[in-house]
Amino acid sequence: MLDPGHNGGNAKAPSVINKQVPAGRGETKPCNTTGTAADSGYTEHAFTWDVSQRVGNALSAKGIQVVYTRYDDNGVGPCVDKRAETGNNANAAAVVSIHADGSTSAGAHGFHVSYSNPPLNSAQGRPSISLADDVRDSLRDAGFATSTYLGTNGIYPRADLAGLNLSTRPAVLVECGNMRNAAEAATMASPSGRQRYADAITAAVLSYLAG
Ligand code: ZN
Repeated sequence: MLDPGHNGGNAKAPSVINKQVPAGRGETKPCNTTGTAADSGYTEHAFTWDVSQRVGNALSAKGIQVVYTRYDDNGVGPCVDKRAETGNNANAAAVVSIHADGSTSAGAHGFHVSYSNPPLNSAQGRPSISLADDVRDSLRDAGFATSTYLGTNGIYPRADLAGLNLSTRPAVLVECGNMRNAAEAATMASPSGRQRYADAITAAVLSYLAG
């Protein structure tokens, strides 16, 4: 399952996306958020949508069945708990949530990959760590820098992400880079840059599925 973060209609539907939903570990979170944007105005939801389509098309071409959490970029939501439910109901072999960050810390750049930690079920343990490592290795091999400001060596285990907490399938969330960093924003805003991200994520999923 591919989960393109956010959605193009979220900003105009605050009453929907601000509704609290289960986030795992006894917590709640807003249904969804608008996501970030580059200084140019290029949005995270457009980036995640486009990269997900590129990854999904490549995986489909390899005969792999792909399920998405959303099928357009102008709707609202779905809520984070529903996104997890989609992967669970599909019995997904691997779940990849695709995002980009928006840090204004000076010099902050690079990607990081998160998985649910401490794990809440067996899929969140070793399988999710293995998937995270594959995504990290693939992005690094493709020349993308690991995060200078979050996690260690491109890996950032988290307890606070609803989609990961609620997943019963191997699941990771990748923040592909920092949209507020000019160089990374330029890569994300360009079709060739997005293809590079997509190629790396596709290779990681294929590597993970091959075991
Ligand atoms: Zn995001």
